[in-house]
Order: sequence, then C-alpha cells, then structure tokens
Amino acid sequence: MVQLLEKEFVEGLSKNTLTNITYQPIPTEKMLSTLRNWNEKSNNIKVKPYSDMLLRDVAGSVVTVLRLEHSVGEVPSLINEQSFIFIVLISLLIYLVYRLVSITIIKPVKKLAADIKERDSTRRYCPLDSLYEVRELATVSQNVNDLMLIVQQQKDELSKQENTDPLTRVLNRRGLMNALEVHQKLCIRNEIGFVVVMADIDYFKLYNDSLGHLEGDIALVEVARVLNQQCQRNSDVCARYGGEEFTLLFGEMSNEDLYKKLNHIIKVMQDFALPHPSSVTAKHITLSFGAVVIKPSDVVDYTLSINDILREADAALYEAKYQGCNCFVVKSFSDED
Ligand code: GH3
Ligand code: MG
Ligand code: MG
Repeated sequence: MVQLLEKEFVEGLSKNTLTNITYQPIPTEKMLSTLRNWNEKSNNIKVKPYSDMLLRDVAGSVVTVLRLEHSVGEVPSLINEQSFIFIVLISLLIYLVYRLVSITIIKPVKKLAADIKERDSTRRYCPLDSLYEVRELATVSQNVNDLMLIVQQQKDELSKQENTDPLTRVLNRRGLMNALEVHQKLCIRNEIGFVVVMADIDYFKLYNDSLGHLEGDIALVEVARVLNQQCQRNSDVCARYGGEEFTLLFGEMSNEDLYKKLNHIIKVMQDFALPHPSSVTAKHITLSFGAVVIKPSDVVDYTLSINDILREADAALYEAKYQGCNCFVVKSFSDED
C-alpha cells in the first residue's frame, strides 16, 4: 500500500488535482482520533486551507497521514485580458451613447418642458427658444410659439373688448378707471400731474326726442370721434363715461394750455356743426366741460382718491351747465388756484 503511494504518483496526483499532497508524520494517539480516514465522508466540514486524512492498511493500522492543501494551482481567471478590454470598450461606448442622448435629447426636452411650464404658470407668452438641433423639438417649440401667439392675440382682443365701448369704440368706464389708476401712480411715483375733464352733450334728451335714438347714436359716435382726435399725446385718453357723457384725461399741462385746449374743442364742435334742432344753446350739438387739474402734491399717498377727482370734475361740469352750457369750468385741489 505504501508502495502504491510512491513519490511520483503523489506528485502527479498533486499536479492534476491542483492540490498539494504531502505525507505528514503519524500523530499521537490522541490526535489520531480527530482525523478521519481518507475514504470516510465527513458531515462536519470545516473551512481550512488543508485537510489531513488517515491512510490505513488492511489490518486498520495507520500507515501515513496525507495532507491535502488546495493551493497548488492558480485559480483560473474568469475573464481573460481580451474579454476585459472588450467589456471596458462596450461600457465606454454605452456611456458615450448615454451622454450623447442626454445632451442632444433628454436635456433639451427637459428645458422645453420647463420653459412651457414657466410660460403657463406666469401667463407670460413670450416666444420659446426654437434653436433646437433635434428637428422634432424645434417643430414642437415652433408649434407652441404659434399657439402662444394665438392665445396672446385672443387675450389682447378680449382685454380690448372689455375696456372698449361697443358703440363709440373709445374706452368704456372700466378702461377709464384703469387709465386713471395709471395716471394716479405716475403722479405719486414720478410726480407727473394730470387733468381730468368731464364732457357732457347739451340737451341730448331733446336731440333724441326730435331726431330719434338711432340719430342720437350716430351723434354720440361723431362726438366721441371729435373728442378722441384731441387726445394727441400717448398719455391722453378719451372714454365714454356713460350715456352722453365723456371723460378726457390729459397728461400734465399748464392751466393756460388747458384753457386753449378746451376752447379749441368748443371751436371744433362749432365748425363740425352737427345740427341740433331743439338745442337751447346753439343750432348745433354743443358740449359743456368740467375740468379738474391734479398736481403731484394733491395725490401724495393716495389721500386723494379717483372718486374724489371724478366728483370734483362733475361739480365743475355742473357749474358749466349752470353758466349756460357750451363752456367750461376748471377746478383745482391746490390752495393757490
Ligand atoms: P343736459 O344738457 O343737462 O345734459 O341735458 P341732457 O338732455 O343732455 O341730459 P339728460 O341727462 O337729461 O339726458 C341724457 C340723454 O342721453 C337721455 C338719454 O336718452 C340719452 N342717451 C344716453 N345714452 C344714450 C345712447 O346710448 N344713445 C342715445 N341715442 N341716447 C342716449
Ligand atoms: Mg348727462
Ligand atoms: Mg347732457
């Protein structure tokens, strides 16, 4: 048996099984009990870098102890160098493709979505950036821009209609109030005064009575046109206050210029000479005016409200009517006037 375990045989076995097999000295009796026979199966497998096995002869005597060390051969690598380079190249390629898709598609899509959301939430319909490299994104951006243009146009049209008098096409009371607020703010912040003029057609009820309401409507349109022509500066406004009453807003002007302006309007109406068969004042349609001059010192901290201003202009108009119509009265909040 020992002869069978010749040195060459053991070395061959070691080589082929990648296991280092060596003879160990026979241990003491005490130690022998802890070792198992080479042909015994052990249920108690301990993880050790080696395992010792007893080799017995037919009589059961211990012949030798074999030590098996599982460390002779090198563990074959799972991937070789070529596979490793291949995997690295594939990973690099996947990363580059991801970066390319991210830069050319994902990022622009995210930006486009964020821009559209921003326009939607702020209701500011300024055009989106349409310089996208991806054709589909440029098309989406262009389509959204076209849509926003339509929305903005409809919004402007709606706001215009809301603020416009349908008969005379000048501003209505709502539009007038907005314009008055703008003037009031300009007066407080930029110290720019303004003038409010209430204009009322004289004996208009009689006009309707003699010529009919349809003619009355035509006359209202004509008067609105004449008054609107007198609003030459950007800040000047002509509005239909209601019925046969109109309101004019002029940016800051001297009292002298205001008198000139009002006298000019009276003259234009006279030249226009729209016949009024039943007027007590003249043979044509005339207007009476109540004007109020507002200086920056009058409206400090909103102490002078828009209603205060309109009430004062109305009082001036009442005085003009009292003075015999076809004239104007100018009032002011300042002490010096
Ligand atoms: P005064 O000189 O004191 O201002 O007298 P007036 O007749 O002009 O004023 P009053 O307030 O007595 O009558 C206003 C008239 O304006 C009555 C009304 O029929 C007419 N009117 C108001 N709105 C319209 C309108 O849209 N179309 C027409 N045709 N008439 C209107
Ligand atoms: Mg009136
Ligand atoms: Mg009137």
